[in-house]
Amino acid sequence: MKIAILSRNSKLYSTDRLKQAAKERGHEVSIVDYLRCYMDITSHRPQVIYQGGPLEVDAVIPRIGASHTFYGTAVVRQFEVKGVFVANESQAISRSRDKLRSLQLLARDGIGLPVTGFAHSTKDIDGLISLAGGSPLVIKLIEGTQGVGVILAETKKAAQAVIEAFRGLDANILVQEFIKEAGGADLRCFVIGGRVVAAMKRQGPEGEFRSNLHRGGSAEKIKLTPEERSTAVRSAKSMGLNIAGVDILRSNHGAVVMEVNSSPGLEGIEQATNVDVAGKIIDFIEKNAKPGKQRDKGK
Ligand code: ADP
Ligand code: GLU
Repeated sequence: MKIAILSRNSKLYSTDRLKQAAKERGHEVSIVDYLRCYMDITSHRPQVIYQGGPLEVDAVIPRIGASHTFYGTAVVRQFEVKGVFVANESQAISRSRDKLRSLQLLARDGIGLPVTGFAHSTKDIDGLISLAGGSPLVIKLIEGTQGVGVILAETKKAAQAVIEAFRGLDANILVQEFIKEAGGADLRCFVIGGRVVAAMKRQGPEGEFRSNLHRGGSAEKIKLTPEERSTAVRSAKSMGLNIAGVDILRSNHGAVVMEVNSSPGLEGIEQATNVDVAGKIIDFIEKNAKPGKQRDKGK
């Protein structure tokens, strides 16, 4: 097969591993910087043009960066219009990038979540605090990633002050029950085609409630409970993602989902678990890269 990996940087661990895994399995693989693609959207034969010519491939693996979701998903959608199989559909990627929309969809499908309130600039700060169950609370700036803009307010006074400050930023915020019993750890469940293929527990450094590896956390392989496994698989399905990194906290009311990533990184999970996740992604594509296999088709 001819496989295109849509990625801005061929040196990234994830991109490189996917390329190797595809090559090992005898595929012809190219890394395509999607920002350098342009598109003929009106012709009878819709095209994606790259490096002076049309890209003709059998399957696409999107690795769209969070800061280029808009153009990146347009390129993915163009492949869908052409009838090319994409590992994750454009619509599902867009969905996953909108935290509020994602949590609303997960809740609609009955998936366990921390008690969560959304707000922009309510004046009823105390109402918002009690909606999320009172302090301690986690307050998140929706635009943040890798733990930046995620604050633990231990007291009601602190929560009021943080919400007040965020109000001045004209930002969307999320006010969430603090899952203390998670002990500064979360579970990253890597889902491919409706199965969890690898799972790790990430633990923040001593005294840190955030488990992000970028913040100095550590990771180890973990065995999920059947409930956690099913929560991860249902979350990916709810989002319409074939490939997803589902982040779960172990709470005293069961597995609760924090977020679902559409371009989950491979480095941490492969190193912690020794699973050939890249190879499993290529296996999934081999089995599924047929026209008519897609759900949203960019609509
Ligand atoms: P980002 O998307 O910026 O990484 P997250 O929402 O994933 O932000 O939060 C970062 C980390 O903070 C999580 O990995 C988790 O360890 C911790 N965390 C987030 N929300 C909660 C919560 N409600 N209760 C306990 N810990 C949390
Ligand atoms: N690469 C990020 C991760 O570790 C996810 C980025 C995204 O899909 O928004 O999962």
